[in-house]
Amino acid sequence: MLEIYKIPVHTPYPVGPVNAYLVKNQPYTLVDPGPETAEAKQSLAEGLASLGVDIKDISRVVLTHSHTDHSGLARWLSEIAGAQIYVHRFEVRKLTLDYDFYQERLSFFQEAGMPTEALKEILNDNDAVGKPVLPDTGVTILSGGETLKFEGGALLTLHMPGHSDGHICLYDQDGMCLLAGDFILKHISPNPNMEPDPGNFTKRLPTLKQYLGGLDLLENLKPRLILPGHGKNIENGLESVKKAREHHKERLNLMTSVLENNSHSVYQLMRFYYPQISGFEIYLGISEVFAHVDYLLAEGRIIKKNSYGISLFQRQAGCENS
Ligand SMILES: [Zn+2]
Ligand SMILES: [Zn+2]
Repeated sequence: MLEIYKIPVHTPYPVGPVNAYLVKNQPYTLVDPGPETAEAKQSLAEGLASLGVDIKDISRVVLTHSHTDHSGLARWLSEIAGAQIYVHRFEVRKLTLDYDFYQERLSFFQEAGMPTEALKEILNDNDAVGKPVLPDTGVTILSGGETLKFEGGALLTLHMPGHSDGHICLYDQDGMCLLAGDFILKHISPNPNMEPDPGNFTKRLPTLKQYLGGLDLLENLKPRLILPGHGKNIENGLESVKKAREHHKERLNLMTSVLENNSHSVYQLMRFYYPQISGFEIYLGISEVFAHVDYLLAEGRIIKKNSYGISLFQRQAGCENS
């Protein structure tokens, strides 16, 4: 049986603490150590000490995805504990010094019809936490489907894109317990984060379609317990899957109603949902709306027109909500 312990780690973000998980079976393994801040290092060290484990005892670090709140301390653990880092291949590019999150997405902002002022607001909203970067050596690249062996158990890696294209979850088959990262959370719906296709950066990945596919997989898995990357444990996984599906279905139906008689840009739709938001939240709003319009377009429920480089969306005549 695997012994898995939650360690809430401080983050400076509105989401609150991130949950690191210690698998206290040899080789000791940490999942998502947290952001690279002094406060996070302290909460991680204290959490480990309360479990009778020293930072230097950590042999492996597994990252569910590259987001700063989860991944920043991986490099530190590699340096001070010699821990081997495990990460999905699609996240490796995002964990290098050259990676420019916004640069990869600039053409999408233009396509969204984003006013210059709003774009500046996003670009100037700098993250105070440094960019997470992988060490030069000691990294194992995953594709999903690997088994991480422990004394007394194993974790299976599952590729679950949608929130991030190289997002993985870890499944303890004996305990029927899923370490879910940001794939599913108890109280908030994870953002289907806007991602360029690594094979063609002018195209977006179908993040909502990917995400809904992951929910199907989760439903078939029927975990007894879900340990998420933020907040409380999820005991009723099927209920959470149902809620996540309903949330997106409602959003998709509302969007087709808004696009009934008029065409709108992604920026206009984002402002319809979120009239007041600012800074990085504008990015999150744009990302969410793109996920939904791309999904509806692929389903043939809306059509797209190009107006001076801006995509305008409108409901396809004769299409019913479903
Ligand atoms: Zn995330
Ligand atoms: Zn997160």
